[in-house]
Amino acid sequence: MISASMPVCTCDRCGCRLDRGSLRYEMKVGVRLAPAARLLTDDDLEENHLHAVARMLSDLPDDQPAPVEPEAHHAAFVLCPACCRRWRHDPLGNRMAR
Ligand SMILES: [Zn+2]
Repeated sequence: MISASMPVCTCDRCGCRLDRGSLRYEMKVGVRLAPAARLLTDDDLEENHLHAVARMLSDLPDDQPAPVEPEAHHAAFVLCPACCRRWRHDPLGNRMAR
């Protein structure tokens, strides 16, 4: 049986209760290979490879999104307002580690 005092859901970050009428935020996270995932090496930049690299770059479509790689990961989380503010201020948590 569902009671009005039962939390509707909890924040996925801090675990606080989000009761009826509470604001909640949905955070969607996705990670994939960058469109030009592999950074050029010194060997790529040698003169005998320069034309091949230029040809590869000119063959890339300008406005097409990168294909979804098998390594891509997507997730969605529910955040309370306080955790949403913390994420906006420090999305990677770098400032908290200092
Ligand atoms: Zn929270």
